[in-house]
Amino acid sequence: PHHVVVVGAGMAGVQTAVALREQGFAGPVTLIGAEPHQPYDRPPLSKAVLLGKAEDSAFDVDFEELDVTLRLGVEVTGLRAAAHELDTERGPVGYDALVLATGAEPVVLPGSQGVPGVHLLRTLDDAARLRPVLEHSHDVVVVGAGWIGAEFTTAARAAGCAVTVVEAADHPLAGTLPAEVAAPMSAWYAESGADLLTGARVDRVEPGAVHLTDGREIPAGAVVVGIGARPATRWLAGSGIALGPDGSVTADATLRTSLPDVYAVGDCASFPSARYGERLLVHHWDNALQGPRTAATALVEGVAPAYDPVPYFWSEQFGRFVQYAGHHTGSDTLLWRGAPTDPAWTVCWLREGVLVAVLAVGRPRDLAQGRKLVDAGARIDPVRAADPSVPLKTA
Ligand code: FAD
Repeated sequence: PHHVVVVGAGMAGVQTAVALREQGFAGPVTLIGAEPHQPYDRPPLSKAVLLGKAEDSAFDVDFEELDVTLRLGVEVTGLRAAAHELDTERGPVGYDALVLATGAEPVVLPGSQGVPGVHLLRTLDDAARLRPVLEHSHDVVVVGAGWIGAEFTTAARAAGCAVTVVEAADHPLAGTLPAEVAAPMSAWYAESGADLLTGARVDRVEPGAVHLTDGREIPAGAVVVGIGARPATRWLAGSGIALGPDGSVTADATLRTSLPDVYAVGDCASFPSARYGERLLVHHWDNALQGPRTAATALVEGVAPAYDPVPYFWSEQFGRFVQYAGHHTGSDTLLWRGAPTDPAWTVCWLREGVLVAVLAVGRPRDLAQGRKLVDAGARIDPVRAADPSVPLKTA
């Protein structure tokens, strides 16, 4: 291709531009992003940036040196594939090859939009709006005990806010972890001094209060909603790009979309995993780092090895370092290494004796070794693996 245009200047978009240059692509590269800020990393937004320990988290990438044209503060509103053109607020932009990297947008709590004091946590602007909330130690209600809810609660407690967390499921992280594994995490909320209400549903949000469906009213100087994110792909409706029921761009094994010359990477794209026998939509940082390398290779070379990673992510919550690698289902066998009451522990998931996923709390070595074993499809001895003093790689 002559001119490559990347839509979305988050982790996946930036990594695409970097990977194109690394792989020797010499043509023009344009990176278009809706946000006005220098491209930045999101994980610090719910950690150091939120607590004011870091001003921002801009990527350490020299776009001039890379000869990448940045167009920031420009939202792309449509794709006309037959003309090889994008529509933007500032007029049309032509491309020879296109990479979609528009990420995800937070799911909005119905009825809460526009209510004063209600926040989401996805962007640098969101984090900047939340910093004064923490500084003034408001009563804060967090809706959703997922990854964002846990990290925000951690920061809000560190800042001295009174925090009530409202979670519809009966345990935290219900979308990812079974009750047996998440139960000890409920205790982390309590230990931090936050009030976790499980099995609780929001009926409505008013300025200053959250009302639950069971009649309870919780005072709320601020409300932070963390109930999930969906691919930011609405602008692609009618473009001819195939989208899945989850809103993701359904890319193939080299991250090519249903249209020629169009690829998709990061939080906006799903891909078929031969490793797991299903299509995966991964909303984690590592996927936004690795996927672009495959897409760039496919773009430059015309072919690429299939993208089939062992998904990996981490979270920092309640003073703990939580890491997960792999992919498990409810029918896999759970195996504990250490007790959930220990300061550090690991859980393994086995499928017919083969390690398919590992969750490590404060045990980064287990994670590193487990990730390699999962990648290799290695069998492990459940008796040895259950002994936390036996290195996982020798189990
Ligand atoms: P994004 O980072 O969402 O970037 C997409 C960009 O595209 C955005 O800047 C958006 O404005 C822009 N865009 C969207 N639509 C358009 C359009 N139509 N035109 C132009 N531009 C557009 N993952 C971990 O593994 N560990 C963590 O600890 C962790 N912490 C996180 C904390 C927070 C607060 C958040 C929000 C996410 C966290 N993640 C973490 C997830 C990780 O940050 C994401 O997986 C990653 O940012 C995905 O990168 P992306 O480039 O695909 O999407």
